[in-house]
Amino acid sequence: MNSDCVFCKIVSRSIPAPLLYEDEQVVAFRDISPQAPAHLLVIPRQHFVDLPSLIAAGEEALAGRLLKVATQVAREQGLVESGFRTVINTGEHGGQSVFHLHVHVLGGRHLAWPPG
Ligand code: AMP
Repeated sequence: MNSDCVFCKIVSRSIPAPLLYEDEQVVAFRDISPQAPAHLLVIPRQHFVDLPSLIAAGEEALAGRLLKVATQVAREQGLVESGFRTVINTGEHGGQSVFHLHVHVLGGRHLAWPPG
């Protein structure tokens, strides 16, 4: 728990955000500023700054679990048939703005590639 971290506050419920999914390791909720008709975030309860931090901690199984939950919530939102995108931004060039690892799940419209 990082007391300055907005996503830790969502995990601890000190910021109220309706959870689409939760288990002992992972929670999922809607992005506050959606960039597509469906825009969800899947995060570990434990505070990891970014993907390299998670991997450095030897948490490959948790990385896999985040992707499993991302797929599950995408399925629940009806995104699997039409397709969706998972994104993990890392650091300045990656466009990361919240420094608690999160997987974006975006769908509900055709998404351009390459990203800007
Ligand atoms: P990133 O730029 O990859 O770090 O993504 C951070 C995401 O967190 C952005 O899409 C924000 O809109 C989203 N975000 C920030 N604060 C909140 C919040 N309180 N609840 C839900 N999403 C948030």
